[in-house]
Order: sequence, then C-alpha cells, then structure tokens
Amino acid sequence: MGKQSAIIVPEGCSRVLLHACCAPCSSAIVEWLLAHRIEPVIYYCNPNIYPREEYEIRRNESKRHAESLGIKWIEYEGDPAKAHEEWLQAVKGLENEPERGKRCERCFLYRLQATAAMAQEAGIPFFATTLASSRWKNLEQINAAGEAAALKAQDVQFWAQNWRKDGLQERRNQLLKEYGFYNQTYCGCEFSLSAAGRNNDGTDYAHVGTTGETREA
Ligand code: SF4
Repeated sequence: MGKQSAIIVPEGCSRVLLHACCAPCSSAIVEWLLAHRIEPVIYYCNPNIYPREEYEIRRNESKRHAESLGIKWIEYEGDPAKAHEEWLQAVKGLENEPERGKRCERCFLYRLQATAAMAQEAGIPFFATTLASSRWKNLEQINAAGEAAALKAQDVQFWAQNWRKDGLQERRNQLLKEYGFYNQTYCGCEFSLSAAGRNNDGTDYAHVGTTGETREA
C-alpha cells in the first residue's frame, strides 16, 4: 500500500480560489491541484506589499505563472496605493510587532476575508492560501484567520492545509529555478522590509530579490 497523502482534499472540492502571496509559493501548490483534477483560480490579494514597485514585480510574476498554465487569475480590486493605505489602517498600532505577532494575524485575516468574499462572489465554494506553505509563518495563525474569514462569508469553506507536505516544499524550490521566478527577500510590508535591514523608503530596493537570503512571502 502506498504512503497516504498528507494533503487532504475537502469533500466535494473540485475548484478552489487560491489566495496567492507570490508566484514561487503558488507554483508547487497549483501543480499539485492540477495533478489531482482540482481547478485552481488564483487570487492575487496582497495590499500589504510595499513599496509599489515590489507589488508590481510580485503581481506580474504571479500573472505570468497563471498565464503559462492557462489558469484564471484575479487581482484584488482597486488602486494598489489606496489599497495599501487601507491595509495600513487595518494594522494601525501594530507596526512594531515582530513577524509572527499580532500584526501578521491581522494581515492574514485582512487578506483572507477579502479572499472569502471573492470566493463567495465568484461562486467558488472553497478557498485556500499559499501563505500556509511558508516556513516563516505560523500555520495556526493562518488557519485561525482562514476559519474566521469563512464565517464572515456565505457558502464558502476554508481549506486548512499545510502546503509544505508531500514534497511540495522541495518542489517549490525546483519550480522557482525552472520558471526563473523573482524571489523576494522579505515578507512584504514596510515593517518587514525594515526588519530585513532596509530603509522604509525602499532606497536599496534594487537589491531585493537579487542578493542575500531568499525567502517565501
Ligand atoms: S510581516 Fe508579512 S504577514 Fe506580517 S504584517 Fe507584514 S506583510 Fe503581513
């Protein structure tokens, strides 16, 4: 008997709205879904990302990835600068929290509530997030945010899953090289950029993703 998969597909799931933080984190998950006959629709919903230039790079890579596979790709609605201002309001007072702290909890909830709302609007009964593939993140915080977001929407269910399992972490790293994806070196917001040793005005931004330690969003 073969080894049982650690990825458990919710009953009745043949289509999922996949909140994608970035192309590298999406790649192995999307491949797995397609191999298991589950249709992914990618939702690029990351108003947390700063500066705008970084947002555009990650966005374009995610779109390129989806287009290469012929997958539907949706972007968070509205002007990115305004969306980031709204996100800043949502995390107000938590600026000095460390990563994996309360600001990140709020950030996960913010993005997953928007994802649940989009799933409802698009008539896709399940949603999941690539955030749950990152070794830099707290999986319990992500799952709690996903479950809370599902409660706020109607007829949608959060697919809580550790997406590092079944060799997906290793496959992610292979696909990163195969696609030649841009690979960021900080999580996304200005506070994580600052923690990564750069200025909040992004002055040495030219080096981000091209030098130093690479990491998942
Ligand atoms: S560090 Fe990452 S998860 Fe935490 S608030 Fe910033 S962008 Fe969001």
